[in-house]
Amino acid sequence: MRFIYEKSIMTENNNKIYLDYAATTPVDREVMKAMLPYFSDKFGNASSIHSFGQEAITAVDQAREKIARYFDCDFTEIIFTGSATESNNLAIMGIVKKIFHPTGDHPKGGNFQKKHIITTAIEHESALEPLRELGKAGCEITYLPVDKEGLLKISDLEKSIKDTTILVSIIYANNEIGTIQPIKEIGKLLEKINKKRKEIGLSKIYFHTDAVQALNYLECRPDWLKVDLLTFSGHKIYGPKGIGGLYIRKGTSLSPIVSGGGQEFGLRSGTENIASIVGLAKAVESASTNKEKNYKKVLDLRNQMLTDIIKYRKGTVKLNGSPKSYLPNILNLRFLGLSNETLIVALDQVGVAVSAGSACSGRALSVSHVLTAIGLTPKQAKESIRISIGKNTTKQEIKKAVRIINKYEKLLV
Ligand code: PLP
Repeated sequence: MRFIYEKSIMTENNNKIYLDYAATTPVDREVMKAMLPYFSDKFGNASSIHSFGQEAITAVDQAREKIARYFDCDFTEIIFTGSATESNNLAIMGIVKKIFHPTGDHPKGGNFQKKHIITTAIEHESALEPLRELGKAGCEITYLPVDKEGLLKISDLEKSIKDTTILVSIIYANNEIGTIQPIKEIGKLLEKINKKRKEIGLSKIYFHTDAVQALNYLECRPDWLKVDLLTFSGHKIYGPKGIGGLYIRKGTSLSPIVSGGGQEFGLRSGTENIASIVGLAKAVESASTNKEKNYKKVLDLRNQMLTDIIKYRKGTVKLNGSPKSYLPNILNLRFLGLSNETLIVALDQVGVAVSAGSACSGRALSVSHVLTAIGLTPKQAKESIRISIGKNTTKQEIKKAVRIINKYEKLLV
């Protein structure tokens, strides 16, 4: 089935209720204000020696410092990319490429056999796709299963480690069901294992996490999490689209996947997107300042919504995900016997924007690999919608959305 949106049935934005903040967030006013001068007045190229260039590179340096302060890391451990998709690709491909081509100069394709990477079945496509590619090229990839709440078992991870393991890449908080993985515990385990490996001459296992959905609400300092690489994105934290970042622990060698002028410490060539870099730093700063307040606010709204829907719909709605380790802003619900496409389109027509959580290809919904990994059948997965709340969502919006969702049959006639 394909969506065909007709203009006539679209409601005006003003009265719409946006509940798809896990897909993207609006840019905060203060973020936009910080960015604006860098589109016109301060337009220099950060690689230029003259004062215009110096102004640009100063802005990049200040943004990097701000983000480094937030992550409690060194300035040189943060690099800017074009998206979290690119950051995930760089973290995963960059480690493998470096190991096979230690100089980073001769990426001839190589023979990736005998190198092993561990991940989970519920990563974002931007991590899964490069991993699939590496799998085709000969790397051995272990996709750890998760339980019905979406949680991996640390003992499964420990058992899957081999002498040939070079990387563990695990999403911090899942973008579809919100389940939070025990990243800190995995980090501690890998630290212990790496100590032993060093003693016996085995190479280090690097640890990467995709923290895109976590940054608004969870502790993300790499030293606290004990990760070597951490991905983040601008547009999930009220910053601009098309800008991402990667924390890379000192001593973690990567080969670039985009080569050229050598910007970003040689790891990501391309003229710096100054306005977006400034915007990303402002968004990170603002997320850190208001983390606890925003956490509590969206958690209350989410829980209220869940209670009201479950109570009204009785046995016909089920929660997908974990009732104990979850992001405060994501609700993934299964409406028994209903098609999510039908429900999403019907809700949109009355001004409530939710999503299926899974990827859209050609505007038709695919079956979510996350929902099938937690044990749902493809049919059950297609009965599920993702509602994601933002820091500006109001109680009134939630109440109204609940009223509409609870009586969805009225929309389908
Ligand atoms: N990782 C996760 C968990 C995401 O939710 C997303 C976006 O949907 C991405 C990565 C990709 O982010 P970007 O849109 O910046 O490429």
